[in-house]
Amino acid sequence: MHFVTAPNGVCYLRSDAIALPHGFSTRIGGVSTLPHTASLNLAFGRGDDDAVVLANLDRFTEAVGVPAEVISLPQIHSADVRVVGENDRGLGCQRPADGSCDGYVTTSRGVTVGVKTADCVPILLADETAGIIAALHAGWRGTAAGIAREGVRKMVALGAHPSRIKAAIGPAIGPCCYAVGEDFLAAVSAFPCADLCLPHITRRAGQNFADLSAMNTDILLAEGLLPAQIDTAGLCTCCDTEHFYSHRASHGLRGTMMAVIALPKGE
Ligand SMILES: [Zn+2]
Repeated sequence: MHFVTAPNGVCYLRSDAIALPHGFSTRIGGVSTLPHTASLNLAFGRGDDDAVVLANLDRFTEAVGVPAEVISLPQIHSADVRVVGENDRGLGCQRPADGSCDGYVTTSRGVTVGVKTADCVPILLADETAGIIAALHAGWRGTAAGIAREGVRKMVALGAHPSRIKAAIGPAIGPCCYAVGEDFLAAVSAFPCADLCLPHITRRAGQNFADLSAMNTDILLAEGLLPAQIDTAGLCTCCDTEHFYSHRASHGLRGTMMAVIALPKGE
């Protein structure tokens, strides 16, 4: 995965694993001017006027080369993945919408799906042969609840094959910074993917640290994805607050990044 700076000044991360238009935003290249949202905040309700967020969405989607209308509803750390299409374009971004969702699968060309993060793990999946893509938001709850598993299974149900699915795991809080409480192991243990997650909670200097990206990698491998087809950014949002918004580093006063992907419009 590498940083790209687009002609419009937006800096984003792109994975070599996925040939389709996609990207993970940074905080660089937008028009937000508040100290905590400067400058590419891509979520409503973080202090920026909605018009500023929409302008940032235009800038980010232009930079990445995906259609400007993005489907991204409010997120609730669930494992619910929704199959979306043409009629859902812009839901939660350019078009107001009820409800919430933490993951999307689509087979529709020209439909941009996105997830918002600021420490949580953004995951993009693509079976380019079948023409099926997904965007998933995986905080610890969504991770342990199995949103990555759910995303792969929804893709497979539509005709994807796990061995063809490429995965890009974007910047997220790393095990360097993600200290978790004593109750965290018990909390994770209650979720369906606990067996794949618990090995990635390790003890250091008398404290537990969790590696959410490694948890999601193991869940994807368990679903049949090939190790060589999983590309992990390995960048910690909490360590690198010049590039990224971090919920933990900012104590919650922060903007929000987005990961987007789309199947290009056909002829
Ligand atoms: Zn870190």
